[in-house]
Amino acid sequence: MRILVTGAAGFLGSHLCDRLIAEGHHVIGMDNFITGRQENLAHLAGQERFSFIRHDVSQYIFVPGDTLDAVLHFASPASPNPNSPYGYVNLPIQTMKAGALGTHNGLGVARAFDARFMLASTSEIYGDPKVHPQDEEYWGHVNPIGERSVYDEAKRFAEALTLAYHRYHGIDTRIVRIFNTYGPRMRLDDGRVVPNFIKQALSKEPLTVYGQGTQTRSFCYVDDLIEGIYRLLLSDESRPVNIGNPDEISILGLAETINRILDNPEGVTRYPEKRGEGDPEQRRPDISRAREVLDWEPVIDLETGLKKTLPYFKENI
Ligand code: NAD
Ligand code: UDP
Repeated sequence: MRILVTGAAGFLGSHLCDRLIAEGHHVIGMDNFITGRQENLAHLAGQERFSFIRHDVSQYIFVPGDTLDAVLHFASPASPNPNSPYGYVNLPIQTMKAGALGTHNGLGVARAFDARFMLASTSEIYGDPKVHPQDEEYWGHVNPIGERSVYDEAKRFAEALTLAYHRYHGIDTRIVRIFNTYGPRMRLDDGRVVPNFIKQALSKEPLTVYGQGTQTRSFCYVDDLIEGIYRLLLSDESRPVNIGNPDEISILGLAETINRILDNPEGVTRYPEKRGEGDPEQRRPDISRAREVLDWEPVIDLETGLKKTLPYFKENI
């Protein structure tokens, strides 16, 4: 296949490009580097099945060539942390444009080439969930004007637009609802909890727990996620599919795990005031649908995944 990947210079986009190339596909990467890094794609220089276009997807997208088989729309800031310049709270208009206009442009490309379209959606469409764990039938609990709304509502709009193109134009679409994923190539400074904690533990500093640390998340290692995404792409499932690791842990539990693995005696410091507005209390994917239709489930546990992630952080700190 010949595949356009938007957000290719980001954490997930770059791993996706690697996997697609390894499977023998031709990949066109697209990115404007607002939160991504050129280094994430440096190893693909000279790869004949990879090309790159520097472009903002909220502007009209032009893809050269006569054929295109798939558009994978991964471009969007993704960190909620208001304390980082890369957090979407500090890139509010860009985030809404990537989710709304970028999705529209990506769907337009898919329609023009009669290509398959995949949207990188998110567990954030469930907001601060009142149903636990979250399955795909849950409609969510999102504040439409809260700090996080620039991301959540853009993604909810993007899902609705994707389904509109599916229903009214017959476009072959996929929606992956990604839950917290970590691994090599995450920005060290985008403020997400795993990079923050690993960086702090490597520097022998106390880990910055926002709030009391009783809020929970469920962390998926990037290789597991990419496997699920690739299976979804090849499937004929047009309903949204949760992809994530259902192994739930409190943020305090994550801090203790990272401190133990890295032998950091400094413990944690709690910062109640740094916890962003609307920060979900609990999050865990129900992955029954992924198990059933993709025969997929994660195989890498948290401790193994963190150890696989460490060399990247040690090299880049
Ligand atoms: P990331 O910030 O590392 O990657 C996003 C990439 O998109 C960056 O390279 C950025 O420069 C690019 N981008 C943003 N706006 C753009 C624009 N207008 N034009 C072109 N490029 C643009 O984040 P990530 O974690 O790799 O996330 C990738 C996708 O997966 C996002 O759509 C995000 O919403 C989704 N997602 C990620 C997670 C996760 O845990 N990592 C969870 C849920 C959803
Ligand atoms: N968090 C934290 N310390 C940090 C960064 C984040 O305690 O240094 C918390 C944050 O408040 C949230 C959780 O960790 O409750 C996960 O945050 P992240 O930014 O990784 O993404 P989210 O799951 O909220 O989208």
